[in-house]
Amino acid sequence: MRQIRIGDITIDAVIEREGPWRRPQDFFPAYDDAIFKGHLSSMEPEVFDVAEGKMNITYQTFVVRSPRHTILVDTCTGEDKGHAAPFDFPGKERWRNELFALGVSYEQIDYVFCTHLHIDHTGWNTTLRDGRWVPTFPNAKYIFHKREYAVWEAEHAKGANPPGTVFRDNCLPIVEAGQALLVDDDYALDDTITLTPTPGHSPCHCCVNIHSKGQRAVVTGDMMHHAIQTRELHWSPGVDWDPKQAAESRKTFLSSVADTPTLLLPIHFPAPTVGLVTADGANRFHYRFKRD
Ligand SMILES: [Zn+2]
Repeated sequence: MRQIRIGDITIDAVIEREGPWRRPQDFFPAYDDAIFKGHLSSMEPEVFDVAEGKMNITYQTFVVRSPRHTILVDTCTGEDKGHAAPFDFPGKERWRNELFALGVSYEQIDYVFCTHLHIDHTGWNTTLRDGRWVPTFPNAKYIFHKREYAVWEAEHAKGANPPGTVFRDNCLPIVEAGQALLVDDDYALDDTITLTPTPGHSPCHCCVNIHSKGQRAVVTGDMMHHAIQTRELHWSPGVDWDPKQAAESRKTFLSSVADTPTLLLPIHFPAPTVGLVTADGANRFHYRFKRD
């Protein structure tokens, strides 16, 4: 993604991986081949690899720089986590190389927002040092939704997977280091960064709003994973905490931004990633990349 500007704020993408990743029939329980193929011509060509029959899925972090703060939103899967394939793979240094190429060091990060506490949104939160997981960004406060944290804490205590080791290795060490801010729906960092609750994919999933000088962009996390979900709102991934609530969140959120200049930054959408939403009747939307 090329750098975008929202008033006084710049937003860049730092990529961990990209390219064809999952077959839609494996990801969406409601998948219907004829329906999916019927929507292909109305979706941007980058979102699906026709030859491989797989969705193009990127793992990326957004680097948000305001005059006051340097902020990361979501932190991919990270290094050395010991996850089974496909979440651990060679070449993850791409992520930190791209961050450093922006002129951003770990020490410069002031805040890390996690839209939710899943494996691919919390990975770089921590680094393995002398056998212990420590916060990667020593000067940052990490923003976790307090009820999201509480649910995964309870699930971890039960031995559930998810969260598996994700809570223990990516979230708990941040709290133990005193670097977590456990926040509620109405949290605002300042007048530029606020949250919009979009629960369903996870218990308290939140989108992160970026406002400046009358402009708005929204990091939409996993409110949707693929553009097909703007065409078929009820196609929720099998991994969703509450698939019905996730579909309701999609409808509410997409209705609120459709036909407005609000720019969307969905974590898993392939380059050029940033886009605009238009309504197509009451229950469908189009996602168009902003290419200029
Ligand atoms: Zn994700």
